[in-house]
Amino acid sequence: MQELTHYVNGAHIKGTSDRFGDVLNPATGEVQGKCPLSTTAEVETAIEIAAAAQPAWASVNPQRRSRVMMKFVELLNRDMDKLAEALSREHGKTLPDAAGDVQRGLEVVEFCIGAPHHLKGEFTDSAGPGIDMYSMKQPLGVCAGITPFNFPAMIPMWMFAPAIVCGNAFILKPSERNPSVPLMLAQLLEEAGLPKGILQVVNGDKEAVDAILHNQTVQSVSFVGSTPIAEYIYATGCANGKRVQCFGGAKNHMIIMPDADLDQAADALVGSGYGAAGERCMAISVAVPVGDETADKLIKKLVPRIEALKVGPYTSGEDVDFGPVITAASKANIENLVQSGIDQGAKLVVDGRGFKLQGYEDGFFVGAHLFDNVTTDMDIYKKEIFGPVLSTVRAKTYEEAIQMAIDHEYGNGTSIFTRDGDTARDFANRINIGMVGINVPIPVPLAYHTFGGWKKSMFGDLNQHGTDAFKFFTRTKTITSRWPSGIKEGGEFSIPVME
Ligand code: NAD
Repeated sequence: MQELTHYVNGAHIKGTSDRFGDVLNPATGEVQGKCPLSTTAEVETAIEIAAAAQPAWASVNPQRRSRVMMKFVELLNRDMDKLAEALSREHGKTLPDAAGDVQRGLEVVEFCIGAPHHLKGEFTDSAGPGIDMYSMKQPLGVCAGITPFNFPAMIPMWMFAPAIVCGNAFILKPSERNPSVPLMLAQLLEEAGLPKGILQVVNGDKEAVDAILHNQTVQSVSFVGSTPIAEYIYATGCANGKRVQCFGGAKNHMIIMPDADLDQAADALVGSGYGAAGERCMAISVAVPVGDETADKLIKKLVPRIEALKVGPYTSGEDVDFGPVITAASKANIENLVQSGIDQGAKLVVDGRGFKLQGYEDGFFVGAHLFDNVTTDMDIYKKEIFGPVLSTVRAKTYEEAIQMAIDHEYGNGTSIFTRDGDTARDFANRINIGMVGINVPIPVPLAYHTFGGWKKSMFGDLNQHGTDAFKFFTRTKTITSRWPSGIKEGGEFSIPVME
């Protein structure tokens, strides 16, 4: 069994805590690796090394820092298959989906190549007699990120690429469930020319996270994961004076209007509801058809599509639509929620219970489920299931449908399928959700826009990637400068104003 490492000061180093987390192969249930769980002292050492390395990196000019990102993109492409395989092995998602995970991270690295442009300050010539005024965007120092299991390549890159290109050092605490890809990324970035100590990977659990949150050197914390942990990290990080952005859980609704192309809507629901076994924060988990006629027709189209889905290990290649979920505990949680849906009166139209795959009996596979007649008081509606379970909540009118999405505590993503421009426009304007799709099921913004939810899906002010990332990872300093020829005689004792 492989003993994994941390990545500190340019080297893979063994953990010293004697505490380990199991890294499983979700398809077989086997323990395939041991992830070292950092002590507070190990995290503090990594932060000290990062702090010592950061000033020299910050003084490298932005164009040279960008070139490291350029080279990193090249290496990511070179190693794409290797990264995707390592990712699928520990996560369970299909190989094309794993390559997509790397690719969506890579696109943010590409965006970061434009850092010299985004780091330019403002300048006002002759703001007063002989006075010039200008601003600088300076790095924060040491930044940290804590990432979830479901995108082990994309989300770390969304954090560390903009942080590093801005001149910061970065401490990454990836999910202890699948740490191999983050370790590989750190090594690749150094191969691309990043100096040692600028990207440090400390593996661990709550102890490592708390060490980051309470460390005085760490200036900012970025978090992606479940909402209860997001709330904890936001509150603790802010109380310790850090800049914090936390992205939490989701329950994404898709509204299907009577005029929608129902084949398109059904295809979109199947892909976005069951892709990656539903383990995506932008998965659609609630379908809201408007009117019983729309609902009946939609269910009729969904059932054969869902029953035809192929579930299996990533090693089966392109033949598989989705793989296992991450752990036995996650599988049990999904099964319990499915049972609660049945007990609370929802109609299980496609029953994925008892799904077994020959040769993979100990894997964490869950069959696809479809519920109809779900109501908003049921647990399967209120809670994030994070599994291949789609709930249908019938709405009588568009107003009832939009209100449902407005009232839900989560606000990550949503989507509407309609041919009517007025309805689509009204929906985009009124909905209190961060990312909206119009005839698009998973509206994940591209790298040069920003990604973030509203309500209990996001805590903080600035989103991930896009121009927000350059704001989050820098501080603005504004300089007012006057040269001797512009200085009048004598001191001034009242606040300077422009007359
Ligand atoms: P998680 O909250 O269990 O873990 C996320 C990270 O927090 C991990 O690194 C973990 O080690 C750490 N952590 C866990 N418990 C902790 C504790 N008590 N104290 C401190 N740190 C702790 O989430 P997960 O299961 O890895 O990921 C799935 C969740 O992430 C889902 O809720 C999903 O919706 C969410 N997610 C959100 C987004 C988004 O952008 N909004 C994106 C991806 C995933």
